[in-house]
Amino acid sequence: MSAMQLSLIVPVMNEEAAVGPFAERVVPILEGLADPAATAFEILFVDDGSSDATLAQLKALNATDPRIRAISFSRNFGKEAALSAGLDEAKGAAVIPLDVDLQDPPEVIGEMVAKWREGYDVVYGVRDNRETDSLPKRLTADLYYRAHNWISRDKIPEHAGDFRLLDRRVVEVIRSMPERNRFMKGLFAWAGFKQTAVSYHREERKVGRTKFNYVKLWTLAIDGITSASTLPLRVWSYLGGFVALGAIVYALFIVVRTLAFGIEVPGYASMMVAILFLGGLNLLSLGVLGEYVGRILTEVKGRPLYIVRERIGGE
Ligand code: UDP
Ligand code: MG
Repeated sequence: MSAMQLSLIVPVMNEEAAVGPFAERVVPILEGLADPAATAFEILFVDDGSSDATLAQLKALNATDPRIRAISFSRNFGKEAALSAGLDEAKGAAVIPLDVDLQDPPEVIGEMVAKWREGYDVVYGVRDNRETDSLPKRLTADLYYRAHNWISRDKIPEHAGDFRLLDRRVVEVIRSMPERNRFMKGLFAWAGFKQTAVSYHREERKVGRTKFNYVKLWTLAIDGITSASTLPLRVWSYLGGFVALGAIVYALFIVVRTLAFGIEVPGYASMMVAILFLGGLNLLSLGVLGEYVGRILTEVKGRPLYIVRERIGGE
């Protein structure tokens, strides 16, 4: 077996404390696999514009173990772009994205590979716990999955992260998608294929801190919804029609009432409510339109998803 079997892609951004322990724990696990993958694997780090010693660490790792290689971005492009780059670069017949913080236990890789050998194209990890996330994060994540799966045809499995095994076939499909807006979980869901899940226990982050704040998560959520569905655009015509219908009925009522009882001067409150309500709706729908137009602009510009500044290892 000489062809590359398994590629791990590991996005890293300012993770100098995490890359060493990661390699120490993961390499023996991969070597211990009862599978041809044990002899032909690579660990591909994607340095997403780190400003600390991460890159130096990656170089040192590559010097001691050429199965560990890396590409380094010219700046921070975000985790989704890093994953895209990983999929572009990875050579394996199966590819597994994995966070460097070891919150997702690499021991599960063995199970994933076994399922893959059984013939599954996608084996995604599902957490059996979410205690490692704060309560607000859990609630917002939950809300997001519900909203996403309610409005989109391509359901994303709940409690599944980016930790999953992807067969080469799936990787090529994802790579062939031309869009700039890359909400990975949405792309995986859209691609379909024969999927199965393995469950695992998510641990606390041991070194470093989370790189996601609520602003980043909110942006990710909007990216996810807008790339998965156009329902937020269409819903306004129905709502508008409904409101217009109500307005006609109300207008008839006012005409009849005026004819029967004469002109009534008071009406300030109801007028204000109607104006504010409709003004709010108008702005909201314009805002939604803006979200989509902005994304069209990004797509049309067609800039590269990421820029590689340096390659460590590989040929
Ligand atoms: N990450 C990245 N670019 C970013 C943000 C995060 O490459 O802009 C990487 C990070 O180094 C880590 C992974 O994505 O390997 C997941 O990040 P983190 O553990 O902070 O997210 P959380 O587990 O808190 O959701
Ligand atoms: Mg993490």
